Amino acid sequence: MSYDAIIVGAGVFGAWTAVHLQRAGKRVLLVDAAGPAHARASSGGESRLTRSLYGADAIYSRMAAHSLDEWRRLSDASSLPLFHKTGALFFFAEEGAYVRDSIAAHEELGLPLQILTQAELTQRWPQIDFAGVALGLYQPAFGALMARRAVQELVRGFVRAGGDYRLAHARPSATDNAVLVDGVETRADAIVFACGPWLGKLFPEILGARLFITRQEIAFLAPPDGDDRFEPHASPCWAEHNGQELFYGFPNLETRGFKLACDRHGPLFDPDTGDRRMSGEGMEVLRAYLRGRFPALAERPFTEFRVCQYENSANGDFLMDRHPTLDGVWLLGAGSGHGFKHGPEVGRMMADLVLGRAAPEPRFALATKGDAHRRSVV
Ligand SMILES: Cc1cc2nc3c(=O)[nH]c(=O)nc-3n(C[C@H](O)[C@H](O)[C@H](O)COP(=O)(O)OP(=O)(O)OC[C@H]3O[C@@H](n4cnc5c(N)ncnc54)[C@H](O)[C@@H]3O)c2cc1C
Repeated sequence: MSYDAIIVGAGVFGAWTAVHLQRAGKRVLLVDAAGPAHARASSGGESRLTRSLYGADAIYSRMAAHSLDEWRRLSDASSLPLFHKTGALFFFAEEGAYVRDSIAAHEELGLPLQILTQAELTQRWPQIDFAGVALGLYQPAFGALMARRAVQELVRGFVRAGGDYRLAHARPSATDNAVLVDGVETRADAIVFACGPWLGKLFPEILGARLFITRQEIAFLAPPDGDDRFEPHASPCWAEHNGQELFYGFPNLETRGFKLACDRHGPLFDPDTGDRRMSGEGMEVLRAYLRGRFPALAERPFTEFRVCQYENSANGDFLMDRHPTLDGVWLLGAGSGHGFKHGPEVGRMMADLVLGRAAPEPRFALATKGDAHRRSVV
């Protein structure tokens, strides 16, 4: 069997790229070493937030909005929901540049946004203590994506539509337009390496110093029995920017628990060998936060922990570019802790690049990837 394109990595970026190339009429092989959205993949979590708020980085607001249409279609066609429209609420200790830039971007793009005072926030979501909060920005169209399920559903659809998926380990070849799939050199017009946190291991000379894989902890809690204020119909997905830290969370989606995390970048992490047990310090940080903002949850039991990794570029921009020396080989990744929601647009843009239908986006170019970790996209 010969292929027009081979996609290495069936995470959210690779799966959507495969689907868009398939829609363009290409014969596509999708390979993954451990399976679509497996337990160690960055796309392997239970849920991911989708939101349009991005401060001055309106490119991501636009991508999130376009992607949402695709997610909704996929969810509507699926037997189980892939998208829960809970709304996405961000709240802030002060009205700084991020807030003003976000409001301007939403006006320019025509995206719905509600600006809420502290009193309005308290009236609407009394289960959250908004002490010290100046205002909130509520994005009613957005919410939660069921991440692992969505990627697996996407790959199933790709296979049903005639695409080939294979569980296999791939490595770069020294030859143009080729990849080693389980050691066998396999050729195609385009090879896309969409390998998430493994990308730097596969291309150490090019990416080893430009990707920062960090350890990230997530916890789930049992909401109080008989209290439905933390259910998806009553609680939004939310994030708090308090100037120093960013905390975020999800309602009790599909009864899996109230999800909570601190978005601080953790220590460098190896996706193959890293210890995936929650730290005691991490639990304490979350408990302290709950005591202030979610008093009804402060003493509720943790029900589950997840340790995952962000594959950060220096500033948080994605990577989507040609390999610098091998023809027909492309690099896709650096989701940087916010990539999931953009999967459909990332896949479309990557497919357009491969097909020569679009020029590269400079922010996603290899040349713009620095080697000093200074996050600016939030
Ligand atoms: C804790 C956490 C919370 C997050 N929260 C959000 C959020 O709320 N909203 C949001 O939008 N984003 C969020 N993100 C970010 C988002 O999940 C990632 O940006 C996105 O999933 C990255 O997808 P990917 O396809 O690039 O990588 P992955 O999902 O890691 O996929 C890469 C795949 O490549 C495969 N692979 C690697 N090497 C090889 C090889 N040699 N051969 C074959 N296959 C290979 C792997 O097995 C893997 O399946 C979060 C991330 C984490 C970790």
